[in-house]
Amino acid sequence: MSFTSNKLSNISLSQFKESDSQELSLLEAAKSTPQPVHTQNLAQASELLRKAMQLLWGDSFNTEGMEDTPARVAKFWAEMTWGLHKNPSQPLQRTFQCEHNEIVVLRDIKFSSLCEHHLLPFSGVAHVGYIPQGRVVGLSKIPRCLDIIAARPQMQERITYQLANTIHNTLNALGTFVVIEAEHNCMNNRGVLKYGSKTITNAVLGVFKTDVNARGQILSLIASSKL
Ligand SMILES: [Zn+2]
Repeated sequence: MSFTSNKLSNISLSQFKESDSQELSLLEAAKSTPQPVHTQNLAQASELLRKAMQLLWGDSFNTEGMEDTPARVAKFWAEMTWGLHKNPSQPLQRTFQCEHNEIVVLRDIKFSSLCEHHLLPFSGVAHVGYIPQGRVVGLSKIPRCLDIIAARPQMQERITYQLANTIHNTLNALGTFVVIEAEHNCMNNRGVLKYGSKTITNAVLGVFKTDVNARGQILSLIASSKL
């Protein structure tokens, strides 16, 4: 069976209408962004993906199971990048007065992201510590900030420093420390094929940069997560 332009025209916006709740959640996410992923763009991206798959796999691509694969992949990419036009500092805007000016640590915050080099997912955990200066943020807000930063084509290194910078600057923290451990599918399943290896990155700002004791303290608090 050959690939025809007729086939392309079969992809219509109806594929992105209310077929099931999972698909709807993508559209809901897209709608809530300042620059939404329009259904028309999803349909066009899906058409181009169909062409690419046909070029790569020829007739073996034309199976019943892969009929809707281009549309699924377009939606998957849109879903993995919902944070692209969101401001990651927004969840941190509301702070509370607190006299606690010692290190606050959140550890093992799970996240997943999309590697910008291969468009393959990678996932892991972030450990975050900061020293407030009279005002703290609700504990759920740092994971929300991470979610926005991770939901775009990314590099682990960039997630690490963007998260640290956003927390440090928005909360006017005395010091901020971020460690991220992640496993990359582009390492597991292609290229070097090193399944299960972890990449660890960190970003150190403010007092943690200059005060060896503070840095030692936060490292031991993060390490205690392994107990
Ligand atoms: Zn990659």
